[in-house]
Amino acid sequence: MKNTDFSRRDFIQRLSALSAGLSSIPLIGSAGAQGYQDEYARIHSLLAKPESTSIFQPGRKLGIALVGLGSYSKNQLAPALQQTQNCRLAGIVTGTPSKAEEWMKKYNIPKENVYDYKTFDRIADNKDIDVVYVVLPNSMHREYVVRAAQAGKHVICEKPMAITEKDCQAMIDACKKANKQLAIGYRLHYEPFTKEVMRLGQEKVFGPVKFMESSDAFRIGDPTQWRMKKEFAGGGPLMDVGIYAVQGARYVTGEEPISVTAQFSPKTEPQKFKDVEETLFWQFQFPSGAVCNSTTSYTAGVERLYASCQNGWFELSPAFGYGPLKGRTSKGPIEQPVVNHQAMHMDGVCKNLIDGKKLPDHITGEEGLRDVRLLQAIYRAAETGRKIDLKA
Ligand code: NDP
Repeated sequence: MKNTDFSRRDFIQRLSALSAGLSSIPLIGSAGAQGYQDEYARIHSLLAKPESTSIFQPGRKLGIALVGLGSYSKNQLAPALQQTQNCRLAGIVTGTPSKAEEWMKKYNIPKENVYDYKTFDRIADNKDIDVVYVVLPNSMHREYVVRAAQAGKHVICEKPMAITEKDCQAMIDACKKANKQLAIGYRLHYEPFTKEVMRLGQEKVFGPVKFMESSDAFRIGDPTQWRMKKEFAGGGPLMDVGIYAVQGARYVTGEEPISVTAQFSPKTEPQKFKDVEETLFWQFQFPSGAVCNSTTSYTAGVERLYASCQNGWFELSPAFGYGPLKGRTSKGPIEQPVVNHQAMHMDGVCKNLIDGKKLPDHITGEEGLRDVRLLQAIYRAAETGRKIDLKA
């Protein structure tokens, strides 16, 4: 079979599957239809472009190995990988043998593509696996990203990239040294409602942003989980979901904050929050003069991204979860197609890898490092009670 025949047949199969999938996307008015058409055209072009400069076999999906089969891998990433066009679930790395058994059966994963944390480095010899996706507790990201790069694999790493700036830098350096690309799990950068508020803010559709609220919080369950341990999580809700609020402020303004002030709330459940903060507030100031007020918490919920501009306003609420996201502006509802965030993200990243193109800056380790630097500055501001200058 000639490669061209294979590609054409594969393309037609993939396009039919895609058309079937797209028919389930809800259409909400004319802007929704336009968004749908744009999305269709975009995905169609992804599938149709010849992969002439690719180092990968045409039509072949990249193999992803998930490292750490916890809740995000199980409930979001593995199901999303059943819908992706450019990548597939090819391998797993787990410390729990019963999960290995279950996943091999459920996803038809061959035994030779299953690793534990000791055998992980042997992944270097596995040609089925192109990308290692690190989905471990935050403090473990550094070690597994570095080992994945040393094994000669491209890497996707969950947010927050790591728990210190030093760790982030080591991860970036390891990937550069290995000549491999490093992406962060910023799924919202491929999500249509989020892309729309990026456009509204950055293109000043309602005039310059004057002030914003960007908050993400929820009431946490099990107090014994790693998220409640600084050693594993690097902090509390700020590291876990507050990072979305930081991202929101940055991608709506398209600017980097120049200063931050922050305050811890008093602990209302001190027995539960011994090791990490319960609630934290912070205020960013941007070069344009825009300010953003944010809250994160593990004691009660909020999920909102609101921007007040010179000539109107826009908001997403919910703004950061798995969707469907919902948005409106001073002129009416925001209408966009509802997509699977994780599938769009992994397909987007893998398309770049297939084409041998550098990942866009907003999805790389450098972006992850920028966020971790800001998270650390927020903690410093709350601990010292001082305004932290971020220009330095
Ligand atoms: P879980 O606690 O559900 O899973 C973590 C998994 O890591 C465990 O199930 C285990 O898998 C493995 N692991 C290895 N060593 C340890 C250890 N010492 N303690 C605990 N787990 C260990 O976490 P999540 O899946 O919710 O989160 C994982 C990462 O994904 C985090 O960085 C988190 O911030 C990020 N995340 C991102 C989201 C997003 O929307 N982008 C959403 C949710 C999480 P095994 O048994 O297979 O070894």
